[in-house]
Amino acid sequence: MMERPYNFSAGPAAMPAEVLQQAAAEMLDWNGSGMSVMEMSHRGQEFGSILEAAERDLRELLVVPDHFRILFMQGGGLAENAIVPLNLSRGETVDFVVTGSWSQKSLKEANRYCQARAAASNAADGHTTLPDPATWQLSSDARYVHLCSNETINGIEAHELPDLKALGSDAPLVIDFSSHVASRAVDWSRVGLAFGGAQKNLGPAGVTLVVVREDLLGHALKACPSAFDYKTVAENSSMYNTPPTFSIYMAGLTFQWLKRQAEGGLTGVAAMEARNIAKATLLYGYIDQSALYFNKVAANCRSRMNVPFFLRDESRNQAFLTGAKAAGLLQLKGHKSVGGMRASIYNAMPLEGVQALVTYMRDFEKTQA
Ligand SMILES: *Cc1c(COP(=O)(O)O)cnc(C)c1O
Repeated sequence: MMERPYNFSAGPAAMPAEVLQQAAAEMLDWNGSGMSVMEMSHRGQEFGSILEAAERDLRELLVVPDHFRILFMQGGGLAENAIVPLNLSRGETVDFVVTGSWSQKSLKEANRYCQARAAASNAADGHTTLPDPATWQLSSDARYVHLCSNETINGIEAHELPDLKALGSDAPLVIDFSSHVASRAVDWSRVGLAFGGAQKNLGPAGVTLVVVREDLLGHALKACPSAFDYKTVAENSSMYNTPPTFSIYMAGLTFQWLKRQAEGGLTGVAAMEARNIAKATLLYGYIDQSALYFNKVAANCRSRMNVPFFLRDESRNQAFLTGAKAAGLLQLKGHKSVGGMRASIYNAMPLEGVQALVTYMRDFEKTQA
């Protein structure tokens, strides 16, 4: 296998080399069909088997209960910011937990379709904490509560999903899990709907995953486009219109890769979670003891997937990035709204990649002394 640099992109992000190689090998002739997956009718038996396997494998990996539907849609997380309120809000009140750039965006977009309000916000501390659920000001009549369970830009992750019932709310919880889906288990008993673009942790851009509790289907606003009505999509097994066939195929190969992963007696998502904890512990541990680097996020909500960090001497940023690239460590520049650096260490990033990053950071720090 060709040696490739370690790619820390926040998204579209690195994919497992094995998955890319399998896709390359099958590019011209999928499974003896004489066709590339890109050239197949989505209604044919070949693609049907690809879609079915992808859905089955994902259900198994994420342990999705039977009363949830798995939908493969298009438009990414940003389109879901509109599609969720179009389907669930009934034009009424919706609560948002604002923890960073993505949830802020979601709230703004939802306001076009319903009364979206912030039930909690960490804006006062510059998006570095996760407001304690006990302090959330939930509406008694909210149609749902939106939480971005991993804020990709700010590096904040909810390590436990809130139990809205225990907080006195009957509203379903909607999570945007774009950037940590399949990195850890999901407690579906606390979730009504989860959505995420594939390009962080599941595959290439182009397919959006929606996992929705069955009782939430069938309440779309009249203005909701048919292709975005969850009920229509569910009734047509994600084939109301032509689905993003190649992206679904690539995500399906990634699901098979995930099922093959093993770590200390664990497999699948549990193995990934163990590996992700080890990677994040190594990187934050190094940052915290360093005199040059620092991370601003409160320790109890630091993301295992996206690690923003800063150099105390910002004039060294470009030298850091140039040296990193030369050392085979790609796409470490932070998001423009935050600055500094960001290492995204999704499932496809091996522990060796984080070790190489820490080694580089240590060497760079020594040259600053
Ligand atoms: C990347 C991302 C999005 C946006 O996804 P698009 O596919 O670009 O629409 C939304 N939410 C979160 C948490 C993300 O990380």
